[in-house]
Amino acid sequence: MADIVADLTLSYAQKILAEAENRLQAASRKFAPEQKTEFPNTTYFLPIIYGLLGIEVRQLKDMEQALKVCRQILQDTDHPLKPVSRPLDAGLAAVFAEEIIEALNYVERPGMFVPGEEVSSENIWLGAADDLVIRRRGVEFVDGRVSGFAVILGAAPDRATAQKIAEHFLEKNLYVFMVGERRGQHFACQLQEAGLQLGWGARLVSFGPDTNSVVFPLGFATRAAMSFGGIAPGDFARILKYNQERIPAFVLGLGAVSEDWAANAVAAANYGFPTILDSELPGLPEAYRSIVITNVPHEKIVARALSTRGIKIKVARVPVPVSYGPAFEGERVRGEEIYLEAGGGKSQAVELLLMKSMDEVEDGKIRVLGKDVDRLKAGARIPLALLVEVAGKKMEQDFEPILERQIHHLLNYAQGVMHIGQRDIAWVRISRQAVAKGFRLEHLGQILHAKFHQDFGSIVDKVQITIFTDEAQVDGLLEEARGIFKRRDERLEGLTDEQVDTYYSCTLCQSFAPDHVCIVTPERPGLCGAYNWLDCKASMEINPAGPNQPVKKGRVIDPVYGQWEGVNEFVKKASRGAVQAFDAYGILRTPMTSCGCFECIAALLPACQGFMTVDREFKEMTPVGMKFSTLAGMVGGGNINPGFVGHSKFYITSRKFLSAENGLLRLVWMPARLKEEIMDRLIKRAEQLGESGLLEKIADETRAQTEEEVLEFLRKVNHPVLSLPPIF
Ligand code: SF4
Ligand code: ZN
Repeated sequence: MADIVADLTLSYAQKILAEAENRLQAASRKFAPEQKTEFPNTTYFLPIIYGLLGIEVRQLKDMEQALKVCRQILQDTDHPLKPVSRPLDAGLAAVFAEEIIEALNYVERPGMFVPGEEVSSENIWLGAADDLVIRRRGVEFVDGRVSGFAVILGAAPDRATAQKIAEHFLEKNLYVFMVGERRGQHFACQLQEAGLQLGWGARLVSFGPDTNSVVFPLGFATRAAMSFGGIAPGDFARILKYNQERIPAFVLGLGAVSEDWAANAVAAANYGFPTILDSELPGLPEAYRSIVITNVPHEKIVARALSTRGIKIKVARVPVPVSYGPAFEGERVRGEEIYLEAGGGKSQAVELLLMKSMDEVEDGKIRVLGKDVDRLKAGARIPLALLVEVAGKKMEQDFEPILERQIHHLLNYAQGVMHIGQRDIAWVRISRQAVAKGFRLEHLGQILHAKFHQDFGSIVDKVQITIFTDEAQVDGLLEEARGIFKRRDERLEGLTDEQVDTYYSCTLCQSFAPDHVCIVTPERPGLCGAYNWLDCKASMEINPAGPNQPVKKGRVIDPVYGQWEGVNEFVKKASRGAVQAFDAYGILRTPMTSCGCFECIAALLPACQGFMTVDREFKEMTPVGMKFSTLAGMVGGGNINPGFVGHSKFYITSRKFLSAENGLLRLVWMPARLKEEIMDRLIKRAEQLGESGLLEKIADETRAQTEEEVLEFLRKVNHPVLSLPPIF
């Protein structure tokens, strides 16, 4: 029986392969064979070819090797990614050729894509996600803020339908990845015309204008398997399996199906991503009915896509007149869009969450004291204080800062509300659009009331909120709040690893890095920086079967390197034997494993007898001879890498920072911006160590770029590392 999908796929695969060959020939006439041809800022080269075939396409001359594999697949030879008899693999051959074409676009058509995470006013096409984007966004998949991604091919019949579909996906916490066109229309352009912001922050990612750009989302998925799953490049079976099992994604084809779509749908099916079409595909054989769903009406297409891929979503109900969900977290409110602003240096804003006794809190009571939106003109700047009082039988004072920290994302989830900072440096903006839809200050309280009950119902029984906009009242609360913040800081700072007999595990990242376990101690937060010991303790109370389990320290094996019997046992079990033991306080022997979410990576600089550390934001070369992205590729995936360790920013100034190996006294290099960010704590910690001038003695990129230059600098400033005994 005729197989229309196979026919279309094969036909397209042949054509796109020929096109890639032609493009390569043409490029070879213009450029040297050594011309660089990787995607920007990545250690994964051309990620699909690298992941599935293990071929490192670095330069023009490496491309031929990948095209040769495509030819082999299509000729039904003995290549392991078998062949024509299985059209699925012809689909992959097509994708390899497309990836070559996109890489050539980077060489031959500079400016075709905008680098970074955000679109520009001239160009909306973002192209390949760099490693920074992958890791930052990967974390959202890990901790459940994101439910998956939809790859949209083509365009909706009109703008309004495009907007409806996109917003529906956003409300369901999915990323929307957009490629290709139909009838000269792009889905991304339709959204832009409808007034939506595009970019990674808005979760509406306009990858590229051609069908070829499907390689960007598939490359994203391929890299997830390598970086979070720790799967070796070339192990195509495991990479595809990882995606089938762990990456909730699908393709949505809007518009008439053509052979390029068929081939890419077939390629996506290898990853376990089904394709949902709004059109008919006449003659579709029965065998494809589970992976290609045809003729779905637009009103039902989102629900149908989610159910086909088995994505279940719990959507929060919050009584506000605007859309609400994590998708709106990254949305910004700027310039003309601002109706009302508080904080941000122009006025004072503060937020405080306090535990009260049960009879002091009236659940659901929300008061606005002072002017609300109706009495303010558009563009107003006001002082603002947000007081949240909670009561609960299982509530503890230690949970106050944890709940308080939720205010940031909970408010950001509202469409048209932007929230930055916390405590007395909070900064809130509310958009004109939101106000036009009926949003008032009271709704900030409604959000917090509803969400604290939903998300923290196990510790919070009652919530009441008071919002102040009167300057004198704001100042009054501010003073009280500052005293409380200070006491809280002292309490956490005073807590040492020795004082507690229980640490907490975090295995949140195992959904992506199956062998990884963070052990969180009072003096060593999780390497992502998002979970400290108190957070984990609270999270355990809130969700006893969750990812944070108590870990009894048990007998001390090594107090200097930080090894305990109970911890080792736990790690061994939680990693299913992959990791037998690790040092909590050292880098040289068996440091903790790293999943991929680390805020910073520390690395040994042997000639300096010290360490450097680099954070995710620093994109330049480091003295260890690798950029952050390269280091991250090496260190992530849940393995132990002596000499390298992922850690949080906070940990740098902890007393236990690599303390087995003299810690901060051996810190010889870090990016200037990071130094500045943690300066206050760094100075304080240096003083405790009796090295009050240490800050100035730590090199940064403005003083030294290579290890030799670091060493020279250390000698010049007489860094304390010079008087320490050799490290090995
Ligand atoms: Fe992942 Fe560790 Fe952060 Fe938990 S603490 S989310 S395991 S990096
Ligand atoms: Zn992680």
